[in-house]
Amino acid sequence: MKEVSADQVKRMMERVAQKVVESEPYLTEIDLKIGDGDHGTGMKRGFLAVQKMLLDLKVDSCEGVFRAVGTCLLDTMGGASGVLFGTVFISGIVKREERNSFKLSDFAEIFSTSLTSLKKRGKAKVGDKTMVDALEPAVLALEEGAKEGLDLIEGFQRAALAAEKGMEYTKTIKARFGRAKYFGDKAIGLQDAGATSVYIIFQAMSDFLKG
Ligand code: ADP
Ligand code: MG
Ligand code: MG
Repeated sequence: MKEVSADQVKRMMERVAQKVVESEPYLTEIDLKIGDGDHGTGMKRGFLAVQKMLLDLKVDSCEGVFRAVGTCLLDTMGGASGVLFGTVFISGIVKREERNSFKLSDFAEIFSTSLTSLKKRGKAKVGDKTMVDALEPAVLALEEGAKEGLDLIEGFQRAALAAEKGMEYTKTIKARFGRAKYFGDKAIGLQDAGATSVYIIFQAMSDFLKG
């Protein structure tokens, strides 16, 4: 599969939303151990709203789907992570011309720009035990895959695997942001909630493409 249509991007986001909503108990459990326990409910609230919004969305471009998802998350999730996850979907598309199909290189460009915005906004970098630890390796995998001419299925499979490794890596480090930073060494062994959500999102995109 070399490209996906705007309608397929919409269905991909439906799959992402379904997976995030289903993962609420798991995300809650993780954030309870190392944060304030609201990550699962925040993500669920945002992605339930995305599911509802997508039902009536008139799809005119791939970028339009990303914009609608990001706006919905910003409007409904609230809190710091609402802005951060909204950024992941919106900031990569704002300067692009609207397209009717996406190749692996389009996803690589979009998520790379989003990662840059996220890092600027949140000030976190790899090693700080945040969602950046999963998103940055996923973006690098998409970029390398696009350079190698991989198709979407293989490219996203690698990105999901890279996000998973990044999520696992967060277990080995101390936190520098959010409540988790007050845990100090006690954070070792616990995984970051936001990185887990990023992994769930990329795994859902990969699973959708595999069909
Ligand atoms: P809150 O911390 O406000 O309760 P959530 O629990 O929904 O919000 O989200 C927490 C997640 O947000 C963390 O696990 C981390 O991945 C991510 N996060 C927090 N601060 C930052 C930041 N400055 N940059 C990037 N990600 C961050
Ligand atoms: Mg929290
Ligand atoms: Mg909170």
